[in-house]
Amino acid sequence: MILPILFGLLAATVALFFWINRREFAAVRCPILLYHRFIRDEKDLERYPGTEAIFTITAERFDEQMRCLKEAGCSPVGLRQIVEFIVAGRPLPPRPVAVTVDDGWTSNIDIMLPILRKHGIQASFFVTTSAASWIYRKFEGLDGPLSRGQVALLRTEGHEIGSHSVTHPHLIELDDDAVRREFAESKRWLEEATGQPCPYLSIPGNFYDDRIMRIARECGYHAVFTANVGSARAGTSPWDIPRLIVEGNFSLAEFRANMRPMTICTRKLIFAVKKMPPRILGASRYMAIRERLFNSPLRALFIMRRLKMIALGMALLILAAIVLLSIR
Ligand SMILES: [Zn+2]
Repeated sequence: MILPILFGLLAATVALFFWINRREFAAVRCPILLYHRFIRDEKDLERYPGTEAIFTITAERFDEQMRCLKEAGCSPVGLRQIVEFIVAGRPLPPRPVAVTVDDGWTSNIDIMLPILRKHGIQASFFVTTSAASWIYRKFEGLDGPLSRGQVALLRTEGHEIGSHSVTHPHLIELDDDAVRREFAESKRWLEEATGQPCPYLSIPGNFYDDRIMRIARECGYHAVFTANVGSARAGTSPWDIPRLIVEGNFSLAEFRANMRPMTICTRKLIFAVKKMPPRILGASRYMAIRERLFNSPLRALFIMRRLKMIALGMALLILAAIVLLSIR
């Protein structure tokens, strides 16, 4: 008797999950890809501490991915187009896709930019404006901060520039005034560098809450891009525009799958679980533990395809346990 009930519950949960995410299957949606650092060669990866390997991609892979977008007839769109699409329903070109980059590394100019030029792809860069930020100090000698002139160059070449704060802090651990400074000063710095308004922001480390979004609005931002999983659709909140991280070790097949509704839904499930530890531990403690894990032999487990296998394995184990219990 118990078995059909449990199976029914399981089926209902799966159905509910897909119903909640039904908009991911909408005809018009825009996947927004999220990149970070670039390296010339696979062997350069060894020099980066484990935690960051996922956020570092080789020139060859990125080139292959951009070619793939072009061959698939995708139209690269910018931040402004996305915001006008979700807020006002302004139509996007066919097969829209956005390429975004967080942090503001020199490798974006040295390695990424020539590839964007080669394929004629417009991208958007969210820049952390202080050269003294911990993220730049961490990779000193490997990669560094974009200069004002380099940010200006990106804008001149038609790319969009957004803010990624001044120092890349865990915003939720700062008081209102400190958050305001992070948002206002980075905005001013970027507007001076490009000579254009800077109405868009992306959240460092994806640590935010309603208070952070309120301050962003007060500082004059019109939309905020997060690292939550999903694609931009009509009705997406401009204060939480989700993106799709492209992990450095994605194969071309995984890159393509990453943009499909079914994969996005699976990733959402994994992401929902991944969001729990920082909520329980707090941002700083979570990041410290994460860093230690990623630098241990366990880091091999934290690759998307392995996480999927682990999730599947656990689901099967639970199912087996349910079956065994009900037989008894
Ligand atoms: Zn960042």
